[in-house]
Amino acid sequence: MGKLPANIDYYHSLETLPYLIASLCVEAQQALKGIDSYVVDQSRGRAHAVAGVPTHFTIPLWVIEKHSKDYQLWYVAHEIAHIIDFRTRGISDHSAVFHAILKRICPVSSLKFEVTYMKRAAGRGFTDKPNLEDLI
Ligand SMILES: [Zn+2]
Repeated sequence: MGKLPANIDYYHSLETLPYLIASLCVEAQQALKGIDSYVVDQSRGRAHAVAGVPTHFTIPLWVIEKHSKDYQLWYVAHEIAHIIDFRTRGISDHSAVFHAILKRICPVSSLKFEVTYMKRAAGRGFTDKPNLEDLI
């Protein structure tokens, strides 16, 4: 699994994150065999891969401390969708392929946060053009 991420919050990594993952669907949970996950005190979460093979993902502490469970589940499902995408294609981005995975594994009540996220990303000049209308 390589080097541990910096600034790990062990309480939320060992308690909150497994609880969130356990409430997602079987596909999401099975995708995490051999994948470590950490809550970290940093600005963004990320799914990590080495040579296209996923290794671990991170969730920022502020997501756990400041947001609703629906938002937390979206954030976790988003990173797991990257893990599944890496497993399937060896790469991951925010393409329509990624969003099809996310739509399968993210609770319906949490999907709206992906639309908000992608609109904000577009405002920052990201060029990904997901089919947002297909998400909801
Ligand atoms: Zn992403």
